[in-house]
Amino acid sequence: MIGLIAATAAGRRAADRLAASLGDCRVYQEASVAESVRLAWSQCEQLVCFLATGATVRLIAPLLADKHRDPGVVCVDEAGRFAVALVGGHDGGANQLAGRVAEALEAQAVVTTATDAMGVPGLDTLGWPVTGEVAAVSRALLDGAPVALAADRPYPLPALPANVQPDPADPAAVIHVSDRTTPWSAQDPALPRVVLRPRSLVVGVGASRGVTAEEVLGLVRDALADAGLSPASLHSLASVDAKAGEQGLVEAARALGVELLTFGAEALAAVPVPNPSAAPLAAVGTPSVAEAAAVLGADGGELLVPKRKSAPEGRAARCTVAVARRPPRGRLAVVGLGPGARDLLTERARAELRRASVVVGLDQYVDQIRDLLRPGTRIEATGLGAEEERARSAVRLAQQGLAVALIGSGDAGVYAMASPALAEAGADIDVVGVAGVTAALAASSLLGAPLGHDHVSISLSDLHTPWEVIERRVRAAASADLVVTFYNPRSRGRDWQLPKALALLAEHRDPRTTPVGVAHSVSRPDQWHTVTTLAEVDVTTVDMTTVVVVGNTASRTVAGRMVTPRGYRWQE
Ligand code: SAH
Repeated sequence: MIGLIAATAAGRRAADRLAASLGDCRVYQEASVAESVRLAWSQCEQLVCFLATGATVRLIAPLLADKHRDPGVVCVDEAGRFAVALVGGHDGGANQLAGRVAEALEAQAVVTTATDAMGVPGLDTLGWPVTGEVAAVSRALLDGAPVALAADRPYPLPALPANVQPDPADPAAVIHVSDRTTPWSAQDPALPRVVLRPRSLVVGVGASRGVTAEEVLGLVRDALADAGLSPASLHSLASVDAKAGEQGLVEAARALGVELLTFGAEALAAVPVPNPSAAPLAAVGTPSVAEAAAVLGADGGELLVPKRKSAPEGRAARCTVAVARRPPRGRLAVVGLGPGARDLLTERARAELRRASVVVGLDQYVDQIRDLLRPGTRIEATGLGAEEERARSAVRLAQQGLAVALIGSGDAGVYAMASPALAEAGADIDVVGVAGVTAALAASSLLGAPLGHDHVSISLSDLHTPWEVIERRVRAAASADLVVTFYNPRSRGRDWQLPKALALLAEHRDPRTTPVGVAHSVSRPDQWHTVTTLAEVDVTTVDMTTVVVVGNTASRTVAGRMVTPRGYRWQE
């Protein structure tokens, strides 16, 4: 929840406006402003104070404890001109909140944390856990000094500034990417260093019934520490299916903040391991749980720590563990950008764009989000026509171990790049899909409520689909009385398909009463739309940045808006 604190009438008005726009806000109006701040501080993740920065500083000073846990605080001045991220810029989310507040109040966001202000990625915002001398390395990054990138393996990192290079002469700082506790040696020069932690370690766990979480946690911690491996790189615990509900295991995974993966005994038995034993074979049907589950959980990766047992005082061990390392995997994010307007781009899409080191997509879509990319992001733009080839090349880049974002307008899975890409992608890369607002949905909300009952989208492009197939589908939609959204409806070289399709629909619905919505460049500066009828629609206004929505026999025009009844009896 976001706590809003205002002392003046103007402040309270602005606070109400903000609450209406952001949602999940509470306006605090205690006996004094100080009391409001204290209460909000204890109840909220973030605060917006409609107060001078000086007043806010004095009020929150006694409450400040830890920048990783304190709420993020944004100040808005009396005139509502500036939204200042005051404390908790990164962990408290104040920098981001300042942006949202500024957008809602039409104010200017003021962000002063060095890395964000300079467009350099804050090391703690890369999406990877980071340990070490963050402040000193960030300073070197900002100064443009040469910074060495020492990655143990080719992990899929986001774009880094140009002064970060694998082997620079005379580096001023080092960014390690490693699951080892100390990935440098005593002979290495004394430089400020940070370590980005890949989620690469899988701990296999064998457990007897009744094992406690403490026993598991103690053994996991010791095994990692003795092997010089960082717990921050833990990916998961892994065990046998029969132990999926074992309380101590489940609690241990929760305490470590990782998933508990389990595998069937047969699959585990098939994994060659150094230390098979008779006990688990009798109990759960595989000669190895810890080692085999670690290796399977790590996609067949290298076994780093062979099986070891816990050593509780005065009783038999109830737990064994082994550690394996997952090979790095490239990452392909398939990201829908929405129909055009920035505020219809999801937060998740934004975050994925900033996790990528390569962005693949049509030029016009790249232009739509270029300013959101981290400096240094490689761009593989392409003109119309080469999309499918590009989609496949995005997969190849991910297979090389890179973090790739494949972008498309609307939803990237709808008449777009996701299918040709995923048709080629194997199990060797991670794929993350980010849903986008489609043209059909954006058009529908502009036109009214045309999709209130069963509907279908049909692309009229016969470049890849023979016209006979398209026509068959239009006929089917017509006889099934479905609302139809036509994508790719008409271009200079393809002008007879739309009139033909509309005529097919008119065979089953009354041309004079069936509403038709035409929505052009929805959510873009040149947006326009009309609601008309099958008999009257002027197809010459339709082009390739348009969708055409045709109602069913129950659709009506109400006050200029298209409405398709939900068809429930209570409405009749
Ligand atoms: N993936 C996209 C569709 C791509 S196909 C989606 O989910 O929306 C391209 C077609 O989408 C265009 O020919 C046009 O019919 C439609 N389209 C895309 N953006 C649009 C917009 N902003 N307004 C109207 N139609 C749009």
